[in-house]
Amino acid sequence: MAFDTRAWSKAHYIGGAWVAPTGGDTVEMIAPSSGEAFATIARGGAADIDAAVSAARAAVDGAWGRLPAVERGRLLVRLGRKILEHHEELAEIEALDAGKPMKLARSDVAAAARYFEFYGGAADKIHGETIPFMSGYQVMILREPRGVTGHIIPWNYPAQMFGRTLGASLAAGNAAVLKPAEEACLSCLRMTELAAEVGFPAGAINVVTGIGEEAGAALSAHPGIDFLSFTGSPEVGTLVQRAAAANHVPCVLELGGKSPQIVFGDADLARAVETITAAIVQNTGQTCSAGSRVLVERSHHDRIVGALAQRFRELSAGPHDREVDCGPVISAAQLGRVEGFIARARASGIPVLAEGRIAEGAPAGGYYVAPTLFGPVPREHELACEEVFGPVLSVLPFDDEADAIRLANGTDYGLIAGVWTDSGARQMRLAKAVRAGQVYVNGFGAGGGIELPFGGSKRSGHGREKGLEALREYTVAKTVVIHHG
Ligand code: NDP
Repeated sequence: MAFDTRAWSKAHYIGGAWVAPTGGDTVEMIAPSSGEAFATIARGGAADIDAAVSAARAAVDGAWGRLPAVERGRLLVRLGRKILEHHEELAEIEALDAGKPMKLARSDVAAAARYFEFYGGAADKIHGETIPFMSGYQVMILREPRGVTGHIIPWNYPAQMFGRTLGASLAAGNAAVLKPAEEACLSCLRMTELAAEVGFPAGAINVVTGIGEEAGAALSAHPGIDFLSFTGSPEVGTLVQRAAAANHVPCVLELGGKSPQIVFGDADLARAVETITAAIVQNTGQTCSAGSRVLVERSHHDRIVGALAQRFRELSAGPHDREVDCGPVISAAQLGRVEGFIARARASGIPVLAEGRIAEGAPAGGYYVAPTLFGPVPREHELACEEVFGPVLSVLPFDDEADAIRLANGTDYGLIAGVWTDSGARQMRLAKAVRAGQVYVNGFGAGGGIELPFGGSKRSGHGREKGLEALREYTVAKTVVIHHG
């Protein structure tokens, strides 16, 4: 696939045109499966962000802002359809760029399309309210777009994140400026081109590529931004929130997790093992909602962990164009980070219960990690508390239900959780007691779930994306009081 001839290689998309970066600089894109450079993107800075924010403001005040909701919705639906027409092409881009096995890349692109369908259908259903007030008054609550929204997204799900974060914002009538991740963003650029083809007015969608500390920091600090959406690490989330605070604008932060899978002895073990394994190896563990801790009822420990270990031994990691369970991790830096966690866990004497393998013939320069099952992991160890963002699963035994809840809630994160038990009463108790934005019972719905509100608490962030709930974030209430005597 030749990228350097594409309109979107080495260019930002601002005000309806592909424009060269002000400084003329570029960033090399590295394919995680091989470690080799294969494309270049523009390296944006403050001047490019400034131009993009101006273009978005002009769109809000111009043709895009005047478009009836039904027409906005139609554009979004048309983009969803267009993405599906280019399904295989986009999946190939995503697989190469992010190192995803093709099966996952295909489902990610389908999810991106589904976001535009979902929010396209919702665009003309964002209603206000009336309030019965004192006699002589008519009170209306209008739900208005926030204006210009800034979006900073990570490299782990570029295609899905493009649909998730832009779909809700555009449906609500905002104009958007997106800064995707330097490590993987080509599917976002191709989808931006498709958005132009289906007729989005100039300035509704603007994309500035580049490095987080440059383009990302400029976007989060720009005084012309009315709302920020950030997905990534808690450390950068803090910087983004600080920048938002300085401009007195709200933000949604989605910062990952250390999500527990709580397994009781009465659970359907075969189903649990399959889903628990998938929830940590999907995207090589580089998923904010990965189930990275499995909490097992101590009296059933050996049976549950034995079945998990057997499944782990079957797992393989390899290049995106092979039939493997895990692709590579995204970068050399991420490989070092994940290997560091594994080495420190081994050095502190935590038993390795099972390991997968790296597929034969995997390119030597690729960033591969064998899926690894550790346990029992001491409760205070970093492997039990910190986000690894790799295919590493920690087993922690618990004594009873109260202990399971304490353990589940015992990290700084609170994103999602899985509860595995046949007891209906226990399902409900756990669903209420676990501090998380989503709780799955006898399943684990990480990824997809376009219709389901999603977000965390504590170090996992705040605010909600996905589902109709996201439309509340991307709109603001205006109270209109008419005094008619
Ligand atoms: P980051 O938080 O650095 O990256 C996320 C996004 O923020 C990227 O677009 C990045 O740009 C941008 N960014 C980086 N610095 C700034 C800044 N100063 N101001 C504004 N934007 C900025 O995550 P990493 O890629 O460094 O990953 C580190 C760890 O973070 C992972 O191991 C994982 O634990 C966690 N993470 C969680 C994610 C989630 O889904 N919740 C996603 C990604 C990471 P660029 O990459 O171009 O520099």
